[in-house]
Amino acid sequence: MLALQKIEPAFGLVLRDVPPPVPGPGEVVIEVGATGVCGTDLHIYEWTPGYEAMASRMPVTIGHELAGTVAAVGPGVTGLAEGISVTARPSVVCGRCPACVAGNSDACAARTGIGITRNGGFARYVAVPAENCVSVPSNLDPEVAALTEPMTVSAEAVDTGEVRAGDRVLVLGPGSIGQGIALFAREAGAAEVVVVGRDDQFRLDRLRAMGFPDVIDLGERTLPEALASYLARGRFDVVIEATGVPAVVQQGLDVLRKRGVLVVCGIHPRPASVDLTRLVREHQQIRGSYRAPLSTWLRVVDFLTRHTELARQMITHRVALGDALAGFELARQKAASKLIVFPQA
Ligand SMILES: [Zn+2]
Ligand SMILES: [Zn+2]
Repeated sequence: MLALQKIEPAFGLVLRDVPPPVPGPGEVVIEVGATGVCGTDLHIYEWTPGYEAMASRMPVTIGHELAGTVAAVGPGVTGLAEGISVTARPSVVCGRCPACVAGNSDACAARTGIGITRNGGFARYVAVPAENCVSVPSNLDPEVAALTEPMTVSAEAVDTGEVRAGDRVLVLGPGSIGQGIALFAREAGAAEVVVVGRDDQFRLDRLRAMGFPDVIDLGERTLPEALASYLARGRFDVVIEATGVPAVVQQGLDVLRKRGVLVVCGIHPRPASVDLTRLVREHQQIRGSYRAPLSTWLRVVDFLTRHTELARQMITHRVALGDALAGFELARQKAASKLIVFPQA
């Protein structure tokens, strides 16, 4: 079968022919219906710092935003059968380290990642631990079900910011994670959701299509200049950063109210510089947000089932696996928002 693989710690990805997987004990093989391309995949493609742990696992098939149906069940698997529609939580815990044995698998010291340090979804079939599967309704379109993983990152960021009814929320970064943050902030009852990007008209337009009127392209302006009409009514209650640009952290703090919360969920290639004296005097908090618990996955599947056509607005490009690299180039140039790859096409 064809698989999109990282074969060396350098720029690039290659499409290779590999044998299809056989499910090991506790595993299932998923026939992949759709797999999303995310910022992480682009970082792996470009080989930006932060993914060095992959080097010892190469060649490895990437792709962690996958959905499909169970095609084969390995020994010892209960509760899953062939034909069930699923998505998969990418983070695989070892079950053997002291933390796992103590029941605190969140602190697993030997975690692997589907599509990062073990084979992922840019292939016709992928073997994953059965316990990583999350069932989805059989009538949920796989391309929308493939949005589950990035949407859990967005939902976790909104939860971490403790967005409440009536809050004024600023989202920095209009990519798929930022789009999901806007959706969940609105779901949480935010009175105002403002989303900012820079030279990112294409992705900001997706937000307009999802019913967010307050989307702003900074262009050459600074954040306070571009947000002047909003700041005239006060600074924001919650600011959620999804850009991965270190300088944005201080800019976000500057427009956050006293005692407000700034959530950082971008992956930053370098440390950020923060004016801590100002932070102290403003009594502000910076909180990191990353992978979401299982309960959030169930909530997101429910959201996608109820709002399928709204969520589908996030998808702008669809390609067969054989054309995935051309799609990656579009995404790198921000000319695509969410790109979905179809391994069976
Ligand atoms: Zn992702
Ligand atoms: Zn462990």
